[in-house]
Amino acid sequence: MNDEKKGKSVMDQIRIKGLRIYARHGVFEEERKLGQSFIVDAVLNTRLQEAGEKDDLNLSTDYGAVCEKITQVMTEETCLLIEAAAERTAREILLSFPAVESLELTLHKPQAPIPLPFEDAAVRIRRGWHTAYVALGSNLGDREALLKMGIDGVNAHPFCRVEETAPVYTTTPYGGVEQGEFLNTVMKVRTLLEPEPLLDLLQSLEQEAGRERKVHWGPRTLDLDLLFYEDRILTSPRLIVPHPDMENRDFVLKPLCDIAPGLVHPVSRRTVIALLRELEKNGEVHVTAKRM
Ligand code: ATP
Ligand code: CA
Ligand code: CA
Repeated sequence: MNDEKKGKSVMDQIRIKGLRIYARHGVFEEERKLGQSFIVDAVLNTRLQEAGEKDDLNLSTDYGAVCEKITQVMTEETCLLIEAAAERTAREILLSFPAVESLELTLHKPQAPIPLPFEDAAVRIRRGWHTAYVALGSNLGDREALLKMGIDGVNAHPFCRVEETAPVYTTTPYGGVEQGEFLNTVMKVRTLLEPEPLLDLLQSLEQEAGRERKVHWGPRTLDLDLLFYEDRILTSPRLIVPHPDMENRDFVLKPLCDIAPGLVHPVSRRTVIALLRELEKNGEVHVTAKRM
């Protein structure tokens, strides 16, 4: 479904068409030695109203600078595939121009070595920033430092930015295992990673924090659960999103509601604040205090 049909507001666009670049991408040695012309079209989804109203380039994205960046990425490396060259170029634009939310990049190779009459060969990719919410929990070791390690660890990844963190709550354990008090919180993450690579990052940070899985729902130095990834519904063997048990956990819903009460659960279609209110009426209470 496209954004218009989903009812999302469609973004403004900056459009670049026919940027010609002499570069050396190709499977054949000749192509990498001699080079050939490539042509790039880019559609950058971004907000332009404020820049337009104030007539101020600083509030927009400089398309001259974007063209220079595309040329730089396309010429500084040699790829076998135009898929790879497109991927790198898209990523660099998203990292270098923070106002660009997403983009569509078309990379044409009109002189591709095809021994038949043809006009053009091209790839087109769409890439962009995604919003995810991650729950953090710890009840072993220096719990505060471990939560901070989780937050800083995600933020240190080149394709992730922690945009917001909720207050930390002290909570009683969930699931019946006798163990120490938890600290729990939630963070909002802007990321270029797809859900599974994001889970890889979360699990590697758990490992760094010395996480051992001995008892199900047992004590842990650091637990990082992916709650939401945009409004996607995923059920793979290693990843279920939205997190399937979140509606029963006040220690997840409470911090989540501090930063995003109006977020809509894509399965039940209810806001997270409505889920928390429901749980407060009928469910278990685990949160004991707001810590900071
Ligand atoms: P719970 O998931 O009920 O909170 P837990 O956090 O104690 O329990 P873990 O031992 O940390 O469970 O994770 C078990 C597995 O759950 C992981 O190996 C991971 O592949 C899988 N998993 C599925 N969905 C998610 C998700 N949304 N976030 C994190 N892990 C998930
Ligand atoms: Ca968990
Ligand atoms: Ca987990």
